[in-house]
Amino acid sequence: MDSSSTFLVDASSIHSSSTSSVDASPIDNVDTADDGLTLENVLYAGSSQNRCVICRRIRDSSTNMITMPKSSRLDLLIVHRMYATQNVRCCEQHIVGHDRLNPMDTVEMNDRKNLKTTLPPQELLLILEDLLTLIQEAIKSPRLDFRDPALSNDDYLTWTGWNIAQFDMMFDMLSPFLRSSCNREPRNALAIFWIKAKTNLSFSQIGSLFNYTGDSEARRKRVADTFDSVRILLVRNLVPLNLGVYHLTRDQALIHNTAFSKEFWDNKVTIIWD
Ligand SMILES: [Zn+2]
Repeated sequence: MDSSSTFLVDASSIHSSSTSSVDASPIDNVDTADDGLTLENVLYAGSSQNRCVICRRIRDSSTNMITMPKSSRLDLLIVHRMYATQNVRCCEQHIVGHDRLNPMDTVEMNDRKNLKTTLPPQELLLILEDLLTLIQEAIKSPRLDFRDPALSNDDYLTWTGWNIAQFDMMFDMLSPFLRSSCNREPRNALAIFWIKAKTNLSFSQIGSLFNYTGDSEARRKRVADTFDSVRILLVRNLVPLNLGVYHLTRDQALIHNTAFSKEFWDNKVTIIWD
């Protein structure tokens, strides 16, 4: 369905164009189109192909714009009460993770007409269907999710003992193997291993955090299986790169020399048996 099937009601005469927040008081009722239904308090985001729907930047050679994915349009509707039709475009940088709208980005309200959204019944049915699917996914989704771009460096350190960069590096190394050997989402599977190592929460408690289905014993078993799969992968693919005499070159080993070894052994490669 293209944007031309969306009917608009100009509410700019009711609200000043300088309104800077979508949390403003409800838009007053105006006449509703005969064959459409007007959504109260939902602004119409516009349908321009040349402007970013989020920051209103005009498309030029320096901006990388993409068609806004459906899940990010739903984010816009739920979080910002703003409806964007299919085929609207936005800067690539506003989309993070699995096609979600970056929660840190603000929606530019200046230079935007204050239009209510009026939709034909068919389009409303589609939105309702999409929203129901989203609610279904939300019910099943992990309470702690390491795909969530809103997790901070401190969150990563607290839960896993690694910062985001370190976690990402490890994940990149293991992800080809994680996909083929774990039945859970790979990034969360790696997080589960480190959460157990860092916090020593019980497997069942970790299962609750990640919203594993089933009773306590079923959760415990599934988390324990995930933990074991990741442990085996780490032993096979990560530990050999960081353990033993041969994981370093001679030059790399010299960097590890201390003032003590430089003084007593003339800055030669030193192995300390402790
Ligand atoms: Zn933008």
